[in-house]
Amino acid sequence: MRVTAAAATDIGLVREGNEDSYLTEEPLFAVADGMGGHRGGEVASQLAVETLEKRFKQGARDLPDQVQEANRVVFERSVVDEKVAGMGTTLTAALVEGDRVRLAHVGDSRAYLLRDGDLRLLTEDHTLVHRMVTEGEISKEEAETHPQRSVLTRALGVDNVVDVDDDTVQVRPGDRLLLCTDGLTSMVSEQAIEEALRGVPDPQEAARRLVHLANEGGGTDNTTVVVLDFSDDAVAGRPEEEPTPSSEAIAPAPTGRPARSRRRFPRKLLVWIGIIVALAVVALVGLRLYLDSQWYVGVSNGHVAIFRGIPTEVAGFELHHVVVQTTISAEKAESLAFFQDLGDGITAEDRDGASAIVERIRQDVEEMRQVPKPNQPGSTDASGP
Ligand code: MG
Repeated sequence: MRVTAAAATDIGLVREGNEDSYLTEEPLFAVADGMGGHRGGEVASQLAVETLEKRFKQGARDLPDQVQEANRVVFERSVVDEKVAGMGTTLTAALVEGDRVRLAHVGDSRAYLLRDGDLRLLTEDHTLVHRMVTEGEISKEEAETHPQRSVLTRALGVDNVVDVDDDTVQVRPGDRLLLCTDGLTSMVSEQAIEEALRGVPDPQEAARRLVHLANEGGGTDNTTVVVLDFSDDAVAGRPEEEPTPSSEAIAPAPTGRPARSRRRFPRKLLVWIGIIVALAVVALVGLRLYLDSQWYVGVSNGHVAIFRGIPTEVAGFELHHVVVQTTISAEKAESLAFFQDLGDGITAEDRDGASAIVERIRQDVEEMRQVPKPNQPGSTDASGP
């Protein structure tokens, strides 16, 4: 099964920061919605998706286990760092394994499946109002406007273990999976979500459309969506559509019996075309391997982000993609002398190196916020008290 992924995130119209994070590192995808005062939320959601990704790269393939590990990392950080004490995050993650999608979920972000035009909710909200609805205390309609609708009964990082919901979904070509934070579902009805997913074929367009709808509906929260489109691995009928010169070159040569219609192509020419195609394939595979090993920190949607690949494009093809978009303002980061070239990309040795650069930027931006501007032109030291 082939997956085409797209994501969009937005701060909304009311909040001062974006505490959501997401991950689109095929075959692993996730959204996380952080909470907790003073940066706590953004640290929690980012730490959660980063840990998930890191463990996956180290070979972990048990998704609920990885979520449990992410929980432990967020919890331990909140214990040792009093600036982020009490932080937590939701986490809804999907791991694509062939035609099966493994889901792991904690909190009130959601996963939906659109199949044959119908939208189906795959996750259960871990909220107080959801519990009240299932216990018959309030109706579904009352829940939608309940003042405590955002109170979570379960979140990542608040205890050293967490109960993780775990599910496996069989997918087929044409299916569309949506992961989203509650910024979408609290602002946009399921019917409108269904219509947008059904009506916009391009996944990136669909992701943008959903975020737009959330802001149109009030935008009182950050909104993050990941859209995954599933299609067949092999494109049917491809051999007929694209008779590759290489296959023809291989066929007639050994038999020495070129078909009449092929006489127009001297055998030597066919062999050369075959060699050129083979070299092009080798070059493309080599380029892909090279790009996969390259990392840098740059700007995505006005925020500092970790990229895989190189910060350039060739003939309209971008040779990179966003792995993690942080909540750090790129403008603030670029105002620091050390990171003024952020827009061009700051190359890192590897994934960890990129994370370290982001951490450095985060700290410097934070310090910049804390240091009051010197109001005396002659002041020699701005390091504060
Ligand atoms: Mg939220």
